[in-house]
Amino acid sequence: MGEESHLVTKGIVHKYENRVLWKVSYRCAAHCQFCTRLRQIGTRDGDLNSEDIEKGLEYLSSHPEVNEVILSGGDPLFAPKVTEVIFSGLVQLPSVKVIRIGTRMPVHLPSAFEGGFLQGLLKKISEVAFMRPIYMLIHFDHPDELTSETMRVITQLRRIGLILLSQTVFLKGVNDDEGILRKLFESLYHAGVVPYYIYRCDYASGLERFVCSIQDERRIMTNLRRNLSGVAVPTYVIDVLGKGKIPVPLEFWDGVDLSQCKDFNGERILI
Ligand SMILES: *Cc1c(COP(=O)(O)O)cnc(C)c1O
Ligand code: SF4
Repeated sequence: MGEESHLVTKGIVHKYENRVLWKVSYRCAAHCQFCTRLRQIGTRDGDLNSEDIEKGLEYLSSHPEVNEVILSGGDPLFAPKVTEVIFSGLVQLPSVKVIRIGTRMPVHLPSAFEGGFLQGLLKKISEVAFMRPIYMLIHFDHPDELTSETMRVITQLRRIGLILLSQTVFLKGVNDDEGILRKLFESLYHAGVVPYYIYRCDYASGLERFVCSIQDERRIMTNLRRNLSGVAVPTYVIDVLGKGKIPVPLEFWDGVDLSQCKDFNGERILI
């Protein structure tokens, strides 16, 4: 996604002024074929040593304009020891008001929430979650992923005080269907997970078969906006290479040119 140009120290992408993405490792329990970082997933390239973590924390303490850190990867929960060290460092920084953790572990490895694997990290999180907001952003693509095991994990995470959000990728033949997405977003909302983003699938080579038509996606999202509670409808965005997550306008407005948009800096880009 053109992240390299915003890499400020190993693992940290600083693209927007007030928040950074901290890639904890490239390890992940899921290996989604449509992953933005598929080339890296499962490799050791993203592993951080204590010096890397120290450098990252130093960067943040010298950049107090950063008030939010988004732990990502790979999956931060699949490298719980590293995440715990980073998390403990972050809570010491007064400038960091919000910590977000992106994960798919509740879907791909719900059993990990029972044993010792995540115990240390979850305990640490629960100690701070009542004093400052810790948001967990869980990747869900289909209502069938809401198994009883996954629902138990959601309850557990709510009980330790996390605020839960979801993110979804539009996938042709999987969830490009109003009924399927309605069931997904409603079920999440009813379980205490607020749908946050639905992304248009990246246009990377090899992913063509997953990319839906933008008109279909818009129609589906427009109908969902009509039929669901506002809180249950995620923002539909397109992650334009190096430009950011640009919201796609719904059909409530006529005469929208879907072939181009402006990025966060007001620069025109062709879709
Ligand atoms: C997605 C992303 C964020 C977070 O963006 P939000 O719109 O606040 O969710 C921050 N930094 C980078 C580099 C990102 O890719
Ligand atoms: S869960 Fe996320 S990080 Fe892991 S492979 Fe899937 S998209 Fe990539």
